[in-house]
Amino acid sequence: MKDDLKHECGLAALYWLDEPYEKGGAALEEPENVAGLMPSMLLDLQNRGQLASGMTSYEPDRRQILHTFKDVGTVSEGFRMSHTGKHASILEEYTGRAAIGHTRYATSGEEDDVRYAQPFERQHGRVWKWFSLAFNGNLANYTHLRERLLSKRGYHFTLNTDTEIIMHTLAYRLRGERMPNLAKVMGGLARDFDGAFNIAFLDAAGRMFVSRDPTGYRPLCWAVQGRLFGAANESTALLNLGFTDIHHLQPGEMAIVEEGQLRIEQYAKPEKPACCFFEWVYFSNVASEIDGQGVYQSRARAGRILAEMEDEEIGDDCIVVPVPDTAKAAADAYAFHVGAPCMEGVIRNRYVGRTFIQPVSTREKSAKSKYTTVRSLMQGQRVFLVEDSIVRSLTLKTLIQQIRVNGGAAEVHVRVACPPIVGPCFYGINMSTVGELFAPPFAPTRYKGDPTQQMLKKMARSLKVDTLKYLPTSALGDAINVPQESLCRGCVTGKYPSSWGNRMYRRLS
Ligand code: SF4
Repeated sequence: MKDDLKHECGLAALYWLDEPYEKGGAALEEPENVAGLMPSMLLDLQNRGQLASGMTSYEPDRRQILHTFKDVGTVSEGFRMSHTGKHASILEEYTGRAAIGHTRYATSGEEDDVRYAQPFERQHGRVWKWFSLAFNGNLANYTHLRERLLSKRGYHFTLNTDTEIIMHTLAYRLRGERMPNLAKVMGGLARDFDGAFNIAFLDAAGRMFVSRDPTGYRPLCWAVQGRLFGAANESTALLNLGFTDIHHLQPGEMAIVEEGQLRIEQYAKPEKPACCFFEWVYFSNVASEIDGQGVYQSRARAGRILAEMEDEEIGDDCIVVPVPDTAKAAADAYAFHVGAPCMEGVIRNRYVGRTFIQPVSTREKSAKSKYTTVRSLMQGQRVFLVEDSIVRSLTLKTLIQQIRVNGGAAEVHVRVACPPIVGPCFYGINMSTVGELFAPPFAPTRYKGDPTQQMLKKMARSLKVDTLKYLPTSALGDAINVPQESLCRGCVTGKYPSSWGNRMYRRLS
């Protein structure tokens, strides 16, 4: 599947507080220049986007109180990490006691245009109106908001991205003679916005917030140790910085730093929670925890469920092969429970990169050179290939052919640790049309989320495999260990958690 999906970016924030936070443990030995830690933190969020990265730092003693650095390419390319001198001079120029950072993939806008790189900084003569923001998610009512701003308020947009809408809406809500309350500002945004919107905000008055939208589509966690506050989409980014006590922001919650003090506040009434199940199944780092549930454990449970569904005879001529790297945990568990060896019969060519976050133009070429099959393991074997999910199927079809031709497998059986994707995503994953997806042509009318035998047989024929099985939609809750109804499952059921999601789906269907 990895050729198929684009993610909706990653964000991070750091602040050197005036004094230790009450919940903090032992102080981390970190300098006041916390901005210098941002590039390594962004590296840990690189799985969420490789097209561009950047950070805004806050330093009150500098003429340029907020200072933004951003560039296209990976974090390591953008921040010139392989060139010691250049990297050091970036860190020196953008030093600061607070910083927000971003890794980008294009859910909207141009793929290689630095103007779309985040954070977005908006300068103003008044310090509380001079701010920078980083955004993770996607507004389902983006077109509506854009048209409303254009027609009713006389706005002009220079880019084609919802981040610009958020920037203008924030600026509008910061208007007036007095510094507004940030929770009220975000409460106002929540009334306008439909969709996924995690935001990191930093202003020239030294105020910062990170907020999770009221539905909680995307993960966001925070930690504080001594005087260092950190926040990021994924817990691994905080863990690798040395934080040990990591908390998850609840839907509609924000962490605010004002006058050097941290507080957690509810800015909007939480909606019915609907965190994206794909975060566990594929997107997040396997070492991360989301809302207290380990990504690794979720994938392993999905593998066990697939094993419990297995009705093929498993003999000595069977091997289980994970599609690297995201399917490894599911394949290990599947193999253990069916009693077959799990072997690395498919090797990922590390120099091709993760194709789902590559520009479209290079994706097809990359799919062909992405994997090498190990003939000495596969020849004459019945191969049970475990994949994390199938979206458009380009890479998987190429790989199956390689396993048969180059690997010499006698049979290929595909087991997918995710239900069939039958609908687009309006909340930040780049699956915007039904036509681009593999499964919809095979789904019967009134499809509810669990494929029929006939549907599976037709899909197997299309993939040119002997058999195909998917994790049932009804098993997602058990796999992830959260109540089924607390997950967004829009793209596997056609029923979306928000009114604009359902409206958009009806328009496309
Ligand atoms: S529609 Fe699918 S990919 Fe999009 S947020 Fe919901 S579960 Fe995630």
